[in-house]
Amino acid sequence: MTDIQADQVDLSALLQQYFGYNSFRTHQKEIIQRTLKGEDSVVLMPTGGGKSLCYQLPAVVLDGLTVVVSPLIALMKDQVQSLVANGIAAAYLNSSLTSSQEAKLITRLQSNSYKLLYVAPERLFARGFLSFLSQLRIGLFAIDEAHCISTWGHHFRPDYKRLSILKKQFPGTPFMALTATADKAVRRDIGDLLLLKNHKYYISSFDRPNLSLAVLPGQKKWEQLFQIVQKYPEESGIIYCGSRATTEKLADKLRNAGKKAVCYHAGLNPSIRSKTQDQFIQGDVDIVCATIAFGMGIDKANIRFVVHYNMPGNLESLYQEIGRAGRDGQAAETVLFYSYRDVQTHLGFMEDVDDSGYRSILAAKLKRMQEYAEAQVCRRKILLSYFSESPGPDCGNCDVCKNPPEYFDGSIEAKKAISAIARSQEKLSVSVLIEVLKGQYSQKVKDKNWQILKTFGAGREHSLFAWQLYLQQMIQQGIMEIDYRDHNNLKLTTVSERVLKGESVVNLVKFETIKIRQEEQKKKAKLKIKIDLPDDLKLPIDPKLFEALKELRKEIAMEIRKPAFVVFSDASLEEMAANKPLNQEQFLKINGVGKYKSNRYAKEFLDLIQKFL
Ligand code: ADP
Ligand code: ZN
Repeated sequence: MTDIQADQVDLSALLQQYFGYNSFRTHQKEIIQRTLKGEDSVVLMPTGGGKSLCYQLPAVVLDGLTVVVSPLIALMKDQVQSLVANGIAAAYLNSSLTSSQEAKLITRLQSNSYKLLYVAPERLFARGFLSFLSQLRIGLFAIDEAHCISTWGHHFRPDYKRLSILKKQFPGTPFMALTATADKAVRRDIGDLLLLKNHKYYISSFDRPNLSLAVLPGQKKWEQLFQIVQKYPEESGIIYCGSRATTEKLADKLRNAGKKAVCYHAGLNPSIRSKTQDQFIQGDVDIVCATIAFGMGIDKANIRFVVHYNMPGNLESLYQEIGRAGRDGQAAETVLFYSYRDVQTHLGFMEDVDDSGYRSILAAKLKRMQEYAEAQVCRRKILLSYFSESPGPDCGNCDVCKNPPEYFDGSIEAKKAISAIARSQEKLSVSVLIEVLKGQYSQKVKDKNWQILKTFGAGREHSLFAWQLYLQQMIQQGIMEIDYRDHNNLKLTTVSERVLKGESVVNLVKFETIKIRQEEQKKKAKLKIKIDLPDDLKLPIDPKLFEALKELRKEIAMEIRKPAFVVFSDASLEEMAANKPLNQEQFLKINGVGKYKSNRYAKEFLDLIQKFL
């Protein structure tokens, strides 16, 4: 397309017609225009930012096929369903197709029946498919999850390296590389390794202000988790766990407690996994206890909470996983449980990594993760600065902002801890030290006869959680350190001595402030904020109508055998339940209602809305 032709396309009209949206989000329009002019782009947007539209809209306009390379088979199916529901011809090619389905697809591709084709990288390079593609007219290559090409990323995939062939084979075709997670090194790799030409980087804000952030101590996790889950009856949530066994155990416990919960991990057979995923998307299952195998490419807008039962090894993973919550822009809660044990687990994994360079990258990333978990400053600021964005003022929607820490002179606490460590000949781990300080006759204490230590029971005045927090801070301040090579026992440092002699004051964050923070969080569970409309424009949602609309959507979804979100998103239904459109024209103004869907569904929905006027 020439520049002049590209400029003349009425993109806003197409956005409305095919997707039912009134306006572009930041960068979308520029990216689309650049693509129509035949140029390359690298698109960085957070999960839920609206990346797919950047190539789906050009696909409608461009002469020729848009090829979307994606490693996520589940995502392909959802996206193709959504596109077809919007009247856009799309298909996918991956290992899930039978050979006769594949043959049919090839014939249809030859007759230019599709605007978009999603293809898995391994399939792209198999069986002469590339040379088949070169016989077709290709309008655009979109490389999704583009960070997979970089060894610096956290999801390196060797088959992505081969994508550099594409630009050589299709030098005149525009390319778009998209990702939700890429620090500077990965970003540079994407452009270089894909051999992009004069490519422009579009970096959107990574801020997701509707997600609340909180870190809770990793003790009594089940009790704490249950309180979180209780706040969201019949709503969707994901609980990420560090092991397959934990996903199974938690799902069992939740089911016993009357919750619609299931587990999901890579050890389950594929048909069970895909069933679980469908049930979750449809809303037949509320909670999925999962390993990181779950969630890649799950386009479900109304996930209300994401809990990390175990800490991930890096902030990229954390942010990507919590990013699956609240994609509808409504308030969603994210909680990370933090304990040393998880740090140790990650350190253990690292020992198996042979490449020492890679190991040190992993270690550095883990350290940043740990700093985040232990932080006493606005957590969102830490996340945003990690993703190279200069963060603004404190966010007001994280646990630290909600209850800023109060400090006290913790020198006495520090002296008690140091003295216990010294008297044990540095043979206490954090958890045993706490037992000693609290005077608890645990098995480990009895085994080693620690009850004879002079400091046994010297710290009874503080709770287990309080000691946990104080010791964490003392370690951060270098007053003691964990020796990972000696069973994680605590060792003294040069600072310990200064503290003992009273030469150095130890400032600690008061446990009470943290506790209040957690209580507040429980209370404020469901503060509903809608971020895209100014307050004075918002009409209240009619809850009965909203329920009825959801019911209607479910019936239609069952009829057409598609997930409910393919019909309309929750956000669209909420807008209907608030604005109560009276006719087709008003119906079309609802975000997410395009021409195609309006023609198909307006009557049923308007009839229902009529009953609630
Ligand atoms: P990503 O791939 O970046 O994670 P998606 O492309 O799935 O995000 O978009 C997230 C949601 O935002 C989808 O429901 C999508 O339809 C919606 N969306 C995208 N662009 C717009 C827009 N301009 N206006 C309103 N909603 C949009
Ligand atoms: Zn904050």
